[in-house]
Amino acid sequence: MATIESVDLFYLRMPDVQDIGDGSQDALLVRVRDGRHEGWGECEASPLTSMASFVAPMSHSACKPLSSVVIGSPIDDPDDIRAIAQKVKASCLDLPQADHMWAGIDMALWDLLGRRLSEPVYRLLGYQRAYPKEPYASNLFGDTPEATRRTAVRLRTEGFQSVKFGWGPFGRRTLAEDKAQLEAAREGLTGDLRLMVDAGTVWNDDVEAAELRLPSLESVDAFWLEEPFHGAEIGAYAALAGRTKVSLAGGEGSSNAAQARQLIDFGRIGTVQIDAGRCGISSAHAVAQHADRAGVKFVNHTFTSSLSLAASVSAYAGLEAHTLCEFPVSPKPVARDLTTVRIILGRDGLVRVPEGPGLGIEVDQAHIDKYLVDVELKFARRTIFRSDRWVLRNG
Ligand SMILES: [Mg+2]
Repeated sequence: MATIESVDLFYLRMPDVQDIGDGSQDALLVRVRDGRHEGWGECEASPLTSMASFVAPMSHSACKPLSSVVIGSPIDDPDDIRAIAQKVKASCLDLPQADHMWAGIDMALWDLLGRRLSEPVYRLLGYQRAYPKEPYASNLFGDTPEATRRTAVRLRTEGFQSVKFGWGPFGRRTLAEDKAQLEAAREGLTGDLRLMVDAGTVWNDDVEAAELRLPSLESVDAFWLEEPFHGAEIGAYAALAGRTKVSLAGGEGSSNAAQARQLIDFGRIGTVQIDAGRCGISSAHAVAQHADRAGVKFVNHTFTSSLSLAASVSAYAGLEAHTLCEFPVSPKPVARDLTTVRIILGRDGLVRVPEGPGLGIEVDQAHIDKYLVDVELKFARRTIFRSDRWVLRNG
């Protein structure tokens, strides 16, 4: 029987982290070891608070450090990962950040098992083969409509068939400015390409504010409107869906499968977007199966590294009818330099997950050094965590 011997955490960061909707500016990298093999994962999360959830001393019986659950657990097959997840749920019930921290550990454990068994992760998930996915280019809106139009032209020239613009000024300025942004995007893409729009939860739960943008969205033939509201505002999603023919997308903020199922079952979304870096591969896979049964399209959410992309796509790699894939086109250098293997588009313009073993991605340890941040966490004057090694077991 193999057990999890160590979990090491690495905080990587750009020298200048900006107040923009770009989650690729830092990374929390996870390495798990069982004594003979190792696996890697990446949390799409605030690194330092997630690290704290790994080591913070027990507050009560349902608020324990993740390390106390994970270290020493058996890891022989995929069911062991699911069993640890159940223990995490019980032991970290009142520790919300634990979900994000667990996501990276879950990802690393799937990678470890795949490496040990010489199988790609998608096969361990039960898929016979991985279908290539059609990428959509994912970008922020420009500061001006002209900047958005230029980006749209460039991406069309690069051969993308689907392009998404999101965040930036959209929804934050006047109706006229939002309309101009949408028209600029459509003009740059011409009538041939799909245009997705990501509102980045800007209207929180305000259905009327979102509704004001519907005529513009409909006139540019938006393929979907993503995250008009916070992911927990299920009623707002359902209400807006009843007022437009523009399909709604959401779910990237889900840090567990239950949150995503709510949006699918009651939010009337057409597409669910799941980030394995926020909920883990196990939950992403469970949501993909649920979406498929419910007639809702599943697509990955990925804005960071190839490691994250491989993990998120593995979760639905074998579902042939779910064809789209979010492809980050301008990750920050820390995300780009994270791996020696980078997922690029094939000659046919499609995305393929690596054929493993594990996630088929190697972390570029030589190149990430310059992004590493020294971290030391202290409690009662004792160091409980120092950079990549945690010091005081079980808090
Ligand atoms: Mg989004």
